Amino acid sequence: MYEHDVLIVGAGLAGMRAALAAQAAGADVAMITKVHPVRSHSNAAQGGINAALDAQDSWEEHAFDTIKGSDYLADQDAVQVMCREAGPELIVLENMGVTFNRDDSGRLGSRRFGGATKARTYFVADITGQAILHVMYEQLVKAGMRIYEEWFVTDVVLRDRQIGGVVAMELLTGKLELIKAKAIIMCTGGGGRVYEPSTNALICTGDGHALAYQMGAPLMDMEMVQFHPTTLKGSGVLITEGARGEGAYLLNSDGERFMEKYAPSAMELASRDVVSRGEQTEINEGRGVEECVFLDLRHLGAAKIRERLMQIQEIALDFASVNVLEELLPIRPGVHYVMGGIKTDIEGAVPGFDGFYAAGECACVSVHGGNRLGANSLLDTVIFGRRSGAHSAEYAKNARHLNLNEGEILKATEDRIRRFVDRPQNGDTVAGLRLELGRMMNDQVGVFREQAAMEDALVKVGDIKRRYENVAIKDKGRVFNTDLIFALELDYIIECADLVVRSAIYREESRGAHTRLDFPNRDDANWLKHTVATRRDGETVLEKGDVTITQWEPMERKY
Ligand SMILES: Cc1cc2nc3c(=O)[nH]c(=O)nc-3n(C[C@H](O)[C@H](O)[C@H](O)COP(=O)(O)OP(=O)(O)OC[C@H]3O[C@@H](n4cnc5c(N)ncnc54)[C@H](O)[C@@H]3O)c2cc1C
Repeated sequence: MYEHDVLIVGAGLAGMRAALAAQAAGADVAMITKVHPVRSHSNAAQGGINAALDAQDSWEEHAFDTIKGSDYLADQDAVQVMCREAGPELIVLENMGVTFNRDDSGRLGSRRFGGATKARTYFVADITGQAILHVMYEQLVKAGMRIYEEWFVTDVVLRDRQIGGVVAMELLTGKLELIKAKAIIMCTGGGGRVYEPSTNALICTGDGHALAYQMGAPLMDMEMVQFHPTTLKGSGVLITEGARGEGAYLLNSDGERFMEKYAPSAMELASRDVVSRGEQTEINEGRGVEECVFLDLRHLGAAKIRERLMQIQEIALDFASVNVLEELLPIRPGVHYVMGGIKTDIEGAVPGFDGFYAAGECACVSVHGGNRLGANSLLDTVIFGRRSGAHSAEYAKNARHLNLNEGEILKATEDRIRRFVDRPQNGDTVAGLRLELGRMMNDQVGVFREQAAMEDALVKVGDIKRRYENVAIKDKGRVFNTDLIFALELDYIIECADLVVRSAIYREESRGAHTRLDFPNRDDANWLKHTVATRRDGETVLEKGDVTITQWEPMERKY
């Protein structure tokens, strides 16, 4: 058994920032992660991180763009905190050693992203996440942080809504351990792999969302799933919004810049929900080619592409055999981000629990509401990572460890795991079920939604859940049993899919990324509300939650 004041589940940017802050506040901190820290999905972030740093810009304008982008569903107090603290936090990152691109005069260079009225996205070529994650990892090493690396969290230990720690499996040995903690911070990232295809890494399976939900925590706005406008044909690999930020066009099969019809002012740089709907409409009305439209980078020129979009050039060549200097790149909307998540306050604390925090993509503070602006997620991870780290350390100073029966706790998890291992093969495989579920979600709970298809999706999720109860795994050993980990992850994926569908059926309007053909308009009178899903007595209860409005009254949203 191990013991810490604060245990951080996840070593992406939110987790790393939380760990540094909690340690700086004097707590005994440890992190746990199912992959090596720098393999966290934060590593894949390409385009950049937002901050109103320029003298011509202000945090209020950044906040307004964010709130408009969210279709007024974001909590404005949280957005204010994030945008106000963005500039100083970016300087902290710079001082840690992040080599942000600079302009010709030597100042930090920025690019414009979708839904933003100013160029305020700071970047390191098209590898921003990798650059920040590696620099922050160096800080962790320097701080001598205890990291349970390649350990998989299977359960959160809770007594009377107070955190006691987690149960986790060391992948190298397959051994289960209890790690006691006075506070835990969920920083487990997104659940984009509930859908197939997805821009997300295979590890983005919504583990924290599901664990929190299973322990009775509120999950907010889970219907708000972002479809990114430019994901590569076939594989679904992300082509950064930075490409459009640098001036790339979107064309349909007639060669038209079709965004003229959907967002005459912002064009390709309207917010993501607007651009994805535009593309999907073009495709549905027959002006696409093989379910895709095109991204045109040819006019940007070789020098700009080499300096700022080198990774994109490589991805296009390797995954689609397209030379972006001379050819059009076929792209389509694809699942990218979950705006919804574990409901927290602006310190990262989950209401109704002692010692339970969440930050980063798995949390819903809420700063993204119905639609996240590009480059606001990395910002969300570092701002609310830092705040939850600091706050949990303060909490831990006055809290005590729970008295826990280690043997009993570990036996319950061991019994659950043994069932997978002992069961005979029955036909269904973990990979097969995962693919079936993901494709179904893409088809039936996608860019455009309607009641009948979603009701049917709920039935299918239920069917997959039942078949999952009988699924067996081939690897019967314990050492690095990835078969077993995939099986455990599938449980989290199914839980998240169920939450997405139920929340999507519940919200009877169109707002942000949630577009219903049967309720095509935004309905502020009834639905300027969060959806909050909670498990009570084994049932999912859906309720409306208030949206915090401070100074920006909802308006019609045009780009
Ligand atoms: C391809 C791509 C490009 C993107 N580009 C941008 C961009 O340019 N700008 C921007 O702002 N946003 C971007 N985003 C979004 C942004 O990168 C993510 O939202 C953000 O990095 C999430 O960080 P995180 O710390 O919350 O989680 P992650 O970085 O996903 O880390 C999750 C951590 O949790 C751990 N974990 C999960 N489950 C378990 C478990 N059961 N047991 C133990 N550990 C567990 C993992 O090991 C990992 O360390 C992009 C996303 C993708 C997919």
